[in-house]
Amino acid sequence: MNKPLFERVALIGIGLIGSSLARVIRRDFPETKIVACARRPETLEAVRRLNLADETTDDPAAAVAGADLVVFATPLSAYAETGRRIAPALRDGAIVTDVGSVKTIAIRDLKPVLPAHVHFVPGHPVAGTEHSGPESGFAELFHERWCILTPLPETDPKAIAKVKALWESAGSRVATMPADHHDKVLAMTSHLPHLIAYTIVGTATDLEEDLKSEVIAYSAGGFRDFTRIAASDPTMWRDIFVANREAVLEMLQRYSEDLTALQRAIRRGDGDTLYDWFARTRTIRRSIIEAKQA
Ligand code: NAP
Repeated sequence: MNKPLFERVALIGIGLIGSSLARVIRRDFPETKIVACARRPETLEAVRRLNLADETTDDPAAAVAGADLVVFATPLSAYAETGRRIAPALRDGAIVTDVGSVKTIAIRDLKPVLPAHVHFVPGHPVAGTEHSGPESGFAELFHERWCILTPLPETDPKAIAKVKALWESAGSRVATMPADHHDKVLAMTSHLPHLIAYTIVGTATDLEEDLKSEVIAYSAGGFRDFTRIAASDPTMWRDIFVANREAVLEMLQRYSEDLTALQRAIRRGDGDTLYDWFARTRTIRRSIIEAKQA
């Protein structure tokens, strides 16, 4: 049995990501006590049924009392208020981390409200599915995926090392980078693709009735993959676009310039430009497979 990294972990929010982390802790550190916090009784009931926590509560301050690790795994829009509620109850030397998808905003909302006697290690497991809630989690979600930590210059290296060890136990590769750099990279690799999926599926939904039913019937030709991405949680994605507005707008500008170039090539029947473009992107796909991120 592994020596526990933490005695008592409070998971604030226990949906896809929080419950997957709970499953990792149950698997790898069975002696660690887990306290789960969510607002709705049905969420907490599911947590108890699945034995994902030793205690459940809808009160975040009660959840963090005595915890040596606190993990924010709610939508980003809940951070500031929840941070204010837990601050007076945090134990001396506790580590506070999170899994939110936009790091500058996690820091903006949590850092000012957290007391000086705790260590804040912002993080983002780059892993997910389109499903939500505690039933949808699984321990292998983070396996061979990146987890990006964006600690502040003053963050205690020992606290960073402990959070890193937890993600490594989950099977993740851990990288460290500044929060604003993280947000730019993710705007391109995750946020823009989701925006494109939401747009395409939305456009298809607005087609006339007969065309729409055929789009659904014959969806295998590429459209289906977009519908999977566009089925992701609306609250989470609303929060991501509001939080990462500037980086997303910058990437969107570059994307629309490239889209215009391809539009022009199609209009002119310029097959060479189209071929060169598609051949280049195929190489990128191969390198993602080689990096085991496919
Ligand atoms: P989720 O499945 O919808 O789970 C969210 C959890 O937070 C639920 O347990 C929800 O339960 C709880 N919650 C919501 N508001 C709360 C509040 N004010 N106080 C306490 N609990 C609250 O979402 P998720 O996919 O796990 O995402 C959680 C975080 O992970 C987000 O910040 C997201 O950016 C990040 N993330 C997501 C993915 C992904 O692909 N899904 C990947 C990486 C990172 P109640 O509704 O009962 O309160």
